[in-house]
Amino acid sequence: AEEGGTGVAVPDLTADGPAGRAARTRLALRDAAAAGGWAVLDHPLLTLHVAGSTAYLEPDALAVHPDGGVTVIEIKSFPILDGSADPAKVGAAARQAAVYALALAEGERLAVREHALLVCPRDFSNHPCADLVGLRKQVAATRRQLARLTRIEDIAASLPEGACFAPDRPSGELLAAVESVPAEYAPECLATCELAFHCRDRAREEGAVAALGRSVRGELGGLATVHAVLAAARGGGAGDGDGDGDGAGDPAASALRRAAALRAEALGEGER
Ligand code: SF4
Repeated sequence: AEEGGTGVAVPDLTADGPAGRAARTRLALRDAAAAGGWAVLDHPLLTLHVAGSTAYLEPDALAVHPDGGVTVIEIKSFPILDGSADPAKVGAAARQAAVYALALAEGERLAVREHALLVCPRDFSNHPCADLVGLRKQVAATRRQLARLTRIEDIAASLPEGACFAPDRPSGELLAAVESVPAEYAPECLATCELAFHCRDRAREEGAVAALGRSVRGELGGLATVHAVLAAARGGGAGDGDGDGDGAGDPAASALRRAAALRAEALGEGER
């Protein structure tokens, strides 16, 4: 470990592969806690069990206190202006730091401080400044969310027999595998999933109203397809036997009929 003339140990964490780096980090954390001084771990690698699988996490830094406690350090590029920063960005940083805190508490069994140290530029300058951000609520929320996740083994067991998503499989085989799994496309998928264009095309082909957004989907109640929505607006049932629902007694169907009548009335007025 280097001291750099500051009295703060900065252990070397280099190792081969994620498993090697995680083992090196674990050793460095244990040594630093036993040494009883200050130590900073620069880009350590932590592990966390997520849905039955090991995930590797890389915080910007960790500070080990002389009493063995650990503070998560997050370095962000958004500024702290006159002592305050964008609450949405601070919230996102806190949620991220909470995952690291959980990995330290559950994976390494360490006493993690309830506040993370957030380091940002001060007032658009190149000078860093830091503030403490509370993590208690975020850690509790993350713990609950992780406990609710379906285990990867259970998801794999529910796949159709023989479905394989290995990228080196022929494209036809991959397409068949992807299409054998039901998808619930929503416009938010465009920002997060590489299959978004594929799923959007399929959703549009099926006339799925989910493709118009979750709020539209929610307001349309039991009417799941554009066909069913138009049928309900015309005052008839979808009648296609595909489980779309015929809108009878459905408040969404009544609202659609009313909207269609108003539209027809307005257009009729306009033509006069
Ligand atoms: S785009 Fe991705 S997340 Fe969205 S439905 Fe398809 S596979 Fe699921």
